[in-house]
Amino acid sequence: MRLEGKVALITGTASGIGRAAAVRFAEEGARIVAVDIAEANHETVELIRASGGEATAVHADVSDDADVAVAVQTAEATYGRLDIAFNNAGIMMADDADAVATTTDTIDKTLAVNLKGVLYGCRHQIPAMRRAGAGSVINTASFVASVGAATPQIAYTASKGAVLAMTRELAVIHARENIRVNALSPGPLRTELLMSYLDTDEKRQRRLVHVPMGRFGEAAEMAAAALFLASDESSYMTGANLLVDGGLTAAYVTPE
Ligand code: NAD
Repeated sequence: MRLEGKVALITGTASGIGRAAAVRFAEEGARIVAVDIAEANHETVELIRASGGEATAVHADVSDDADVAVAVQTAEATYGRLDIAFNNAGIMMADDADAVATTTDTIDKTLAVNLKGVLYGCRHQIPAMRRAGAGSVINTASFVASVGAATPQIAYTASKGAVLAMTRELAVIHARENIRVNALSPGPLRTELLMSYLDTDEKRQRRLVHVPMGRFGEAAEMAAAALFLASDESSYMTGANLLVDGGLTAAYVTPE
């Protein structure tokens, strides 16, 4: 029960990392505000309630500042406080490519969700954490914020680099207010976001050769890392980039 008595707002809870984290955080005693635009978000909330946890679904678009404000208000109105925010919702658009080919529309949409979504989140979550007296913010970046790929999604990469830089600065600004801000950088995962894009064996192998562990990561493995950042076990960590990537960013030559 590492999150007993805590209230956690998580975005992107209809699927992948967000759903796994919502379920895991609830198992550890947190009351969950589950934020997503997808209808399947209700299934996540039902899953948590079915195993005796407490959760509330909020239909919100993280790229809409007013929606994000409502999500934070819901946490305080429903559970009285906000202790943990996991800004995890993100998109990777199919036609996101290199700087020459990527359309302005794709750049704008990607930055609106992946970058502004996180910034709007922090804008509303930090005052709520001040009211609570402390807080832990976790922003989902990516390994692509740390290493370059010749199979590019340039708008996505730009958005994640921005999340990382922003997280570091927020951590420094709020360090003496008992509000910690860390980034979680997943490696390539076996979730809908990546697998819908890597839809052939050849495309998957092109990536896997660069992962020392030789496999894609699982959403549950990211939820476990996020739990560490959310809990008091990481009480002396702020401004960190927790890379959970099967060794990818440490590698030059991977095992045969
Ligand atoms: P996913 O597609 O399984 O889940 C993302 C969720 O975000 C979905 O439920 C979707 O409905 C929601 N969402 C999208 N746009 C939204 C919006 N505007 N407002 C609210 N909700 C919105 O993806 P995932 O693999 O679980 O990814 C979660 C995070 O991890 C993302 O930020 C992603 O960029 C990051 N990440 C993923 C990988 C990977 O390989 N899958 C690697 C590194 C980082």
